[in-house]
Amino acid sequence: MSIPSTSSRRIFTAFRTPPRLGGVEIITVDSPKAGILRRRAKPVGRVTTEVQRLVGAMIAAMEDASGLGLAAPQVGVSKRLFVAKVEEQLHVVVDPTIVKREGEQRATEACLSIPGIVGEVPRAARVVLKGKNRRGRGITVDAEGLLARVIQHEVDHLDGILFLDRVIDRTTIHEVTDDDEVTPAE
Ligand SMILES: [Zn+2]
Repeated sequence: MSIPSTSSRRIFTAFRTPPRLGGVEIITVDSPKAGILRRRAKPVGRVTTEVQRLVGAMIAAMEDASGLGLAAPQVGVSKRLFVAKVEEQLHVVVDPTIVKREGEQRATEACLSIPGIVGEVPRAARVVLKGKNRRGRGITVDAEGLLARVIQHEVDHLDGILFLDRVIDRTTIHEVTDDDEVTPAE
């Protein structure tokens, strides 16, 4: 997931040519490989060194793109894992399950796989997530606000769901322009 800002607008522009960042390619909805974005990803199971290499490449790609999160299907791997970086805190979650959702928040979202388009998405205000870290150890993440939003966006990717599917007020969907004053609600 990404939040539109001056810096991410620059990234969206860069994405008009096929992106290849951190050794992996970010699949966009207009790519010939876009079908992977609509598939339900398979469990990872054991966290092998190959999975750890993928995690490293995904972190690099997310950081290069100034993204807040990136799910494996977005780099062409139909496996259930995502990386996120919110408020300088890095999260790697393998085989995530959201075990609790509370409250509601609404904010404008963007996605590295849907360059240049934003829309307002309602999400749970708080989620509790269980999964494994990059060393295969069980973890629980209790998240509110922006991190909770990013987690829900990334878990959706693992189920083949894109943020535009979640927009209720379709009039909020628009192309990012230089006049946009879009900021995260949190
Ligand atoms: Zn996304």
